[in-house]
Amino acid sequence: MTNKRVIVVGAGPVGLVAAVALAAEGIPVTIVESQIEVVDDLRASTFHPPTLSFLDRFGVTGKLIEQGLHAHHWQFRDRKQGEIATFDLSVLSNDTPHPYRLQCEQWKLTRLLRDRLDASPDTKIIYGLRALEVEQTANDATLIAEREDGTRERITGSYIIGADGARSNIRKSIGVNFEGITHPELYLTLSTTFPYEEHLPNLSKIAYISDPDEWLVLLRTPNVWRVLFPTDPAVGDDVMLAPETVEKRLQAVVPAKARYDIVHKTAYRVFERVCDHYFVGRVLLAGDAAHLNNPLGGMGMNGGIHDAVNLAEKLIEVWRGADPALFGRYERQRRKVALETVQAVSLRNRQIMNTREPAARAAYFDEMRRTASDPTKSRAYLLRSSMIQSLRDLESVE
Ligand SMILES: Cc1cc2nc3c(=O)[nH]c(=O)nc-3n(C[C@H](O)[C@H](O)[C@H](O)COP(=O)(O)OP(=O)(O)OC[C@H]3O[C@@H](n4cnc5c(N)ncnc54)[C@H](O)[C@@H]3O)c2cc1C
Repeated sequence: MTNKRVIVVGAGPVGLVAAVALAAEGIPVTIVESQIEVVDDLRASTFHPPTLSFLDRFGVTGKLIEQGLHAHHWQFRDRKQGEIATFDLSVLSNDTPHPYRLQCEQWKLTRLLRDRLDASPDTKIIYGLRALEVEQTANDATLIAEREDGTRERITGSYIIGADGARSNIRKSIGVNFEGITHPELYLTLSTTFPYEEHLPNLSKIAYISDPDEWLVLLRTPNVWRVLFPTDPAVGDDVMLAPETVEKRLQAVVPAKARYDIVHKTAYRVFERVCDHYFVGRVLLAGDAAHLNNPLGGMGMNGGIHDAVNLAEKLIEVWRGADPALFGRYERQRRKVALETVQAVSLRNRQIMNTREPAARAAYFDEMRRTASDPTKSRAYLLRSSMIQSLRDLESVE
């Protein structure tokens, strides 16, 4: 194998988008993935409009749409009062060819991207190889990785992209700081076939449901509703995920005659962290390896895909002779988005959901109603929450 290639660590949505973008420009790519296949766990399920436009470039949006659901509206509700404010994404129809959120599981995207890469002659995915660390010289970068049996391999390329997720070994290896906070609560997600739309009047496919005692989020995917609750970690996994606990929590939202059919359940820690540097020399970070946020707003995967597209564009220019100082612009642009859009919006959403004080809750409700009912305010709000504004603002970042 020639050393003149890009090594992408991690075959998640971010690594695969970067790989597809590079391969489309004829750059040889080797992808290293620790699992034996692309991962198909149930994580992100919301695609924002600009992400669909980016994926259009690689010919996968149409296939994703075939496997997903259009959410033309999303709403803010109160557990007792019901609908508070519903946002109509059609106000963005002059801003994007996709004025909706697509509800579709992240693993459907990674499979489509993998199929595309499998058909690309200069691209190779190596499965079952866990990246440990990197070394670099002025001319190349080497990945040191390990097979399950403990055998070590060294792979050398021109650049390494660390898209190896939240616990990124690549990030640790280049020694950048990953400052931020860990939220005290866990997030519990349950997937059920229960038809919430038949029980909660005017329910949108995406609903943020406020309550002073226990907020929740309802997200429709093609086959199930996903229910997200905040959870006290002191309860312990065995109790929090026990069938009786889960049943009790769901029955308290909508009492059902039959037991809830639970298709999937998971509880996870939530962080707000952003790396202080997105690259060191020839090693670059993208996606969860570079930033983590709470999922209220559905921006983690989307923001990571936007990183991948931005980084690939710059890497293609550098590959063709541009000054590698261009990577500094990648860092400035995407770090700004991670802090000022992804983290800011996600934290604000969490604050709204967590507020218990009646007057503050009433003020949030009024603000939401005013914003949703005013077309100008609503468009400005949706441009930001749909991540369109963050991409427009990038041009002004030198
Ligand atoms: C329950 C849940 C719901 C979410 N909902 C949304 C949502 O609706 N919208 C949204 O935008 N985001 C959402 N997110 C966040 C989203 O899932 C992540 O931001 C996204 O997966 C990040 O993609 P990534 O490619 O950077 O990392 P990952 O998806 O974590 O992929 C990393 C890949 O690297 C591989 N890997 C890890 N370590 C190594 C190693 N040492 N060597 C080689 N390979 C390695 C992993 O196996 C994996 O395949 C959600 C997250 C969770 C947990």
